Amino acid sequence: MENCLFCNIAGGKIPSEKVYEDEVCYAFQDIAPQAPVHFLVIPKAHIPSVSAVTAENSGTVAHIFTVIAKLAKEQGLESYRVVSNVGEQAGQTVFHLHFHVLSGRDMAWPPG
Ligand code: AMP
Ligand code: ZN
Repeated sequence: MENCLFCNIAGGKIPSEKVYEDEVCYAFQDIAPQAPVHFLVIPKAHIPSVSAVTAENSGTVAHIFTVIAKLAKEQGLESYRVVSNVGEQAGQTVFHLHFHVLSGRDMAWPPG
């Protein structure tokens, strides 16, 4: 999608600090990290949020989770949090599916 920030990041039109890339997904450092480790994993295809996941595109989401597990292992993360905000009330500000991977500090549960 032309006006989508994360489509443009995945397509290399807007710069980002790349963590990982394959045909299906792209991972990059969050610009405003909320923990010592904070990167985002996004599908290259535009999916607005978890609420738009269907039987047709769920393979992409499954793949993203294998990538998250691989990156966490490679980075030696023993404990981490994976978050996807859905909708404005939950804190979603970019309407292209993304999974936050956060680690390296104590985290409260339930979240504030
Ligand atoms: P959310 O609020 O869950 O939609 O998450 C959007 C995330 O994208 C936030 O954590 C932002 O800091 C991050 N973000 C926004 N713009 C950029 C950018 N240009 N490069 C990297 N991360 C970004
Ligand atoms: Zn997009």
